[in-house]
Amino acid sequence: MCDGHPRFLGEVAHIQSLSPFGPRFGPVGGRDVVENLIVLCPSCHRLIDSDVASYSVERLVPWQRVQSAALVGGGHE
Ligand SMILES: [Zn+2]
Repeated sequence: MCDGHPRFLGEVAHIQSLSPFGPRFGPVGGRDVVENLIVLCPSCHRLIDSDVASYSVERLVPWQRVQSAALVGGGHE
């Protein structure tokens, strides 16, 4: 997901929606904390929010962790 896009325009997506009627609403409830945010291109953002059955919290959280580690780690050992 997103890795194949030649020109990456990032959007910040919520893993758990802010709205009770939004995608993947849950206990974290759309808070703007790093654990609930993932950077995606607009196409993938739309995809994960329109196919919640395929893109569940359980599936997105590991992606968020990998992305967060990459951003924070910055390649340093
Ligand atoms: Zn993408």
